[in-house]
Amino acid sequence: MGCFDRVWARCPRCGGQVEFQTKGGPCESRDYDVYGLTRVKEGVDVLSGISQFAVCEKCDAKVEIVSHVHIDCVRMYEEPKKEKEDQ
Ligand SMILES: [Zn+2]
Repeated sequence: MGCFDRVWARCPRCGGQVEFQTKGGPCESRDYDVYGLTRVKEGVDVLSGISQFAVCEKCDAKVEIVSHVHIDCVRMYEEPKKEKEDQ
């Protein structure tokens, strides 16, 4: 079995649920709703590894993710630490 989380969207043709798989999340077989999704959730960029295409199980339509660059915030840049620390 592959390791991924699921992002659910609505099929533009029939309104059915369409499953996109993403490897950007924690890979714990979690489910996310694409419409309520904050790009960075709990420090994980869920959409970074999302598949661009998916097929609706209901009507067989091939649907595509269309995303735009969106800046969530500007924060202090922190240099990567050399030693691993507990979070
Ligand atoms: Zn459909």
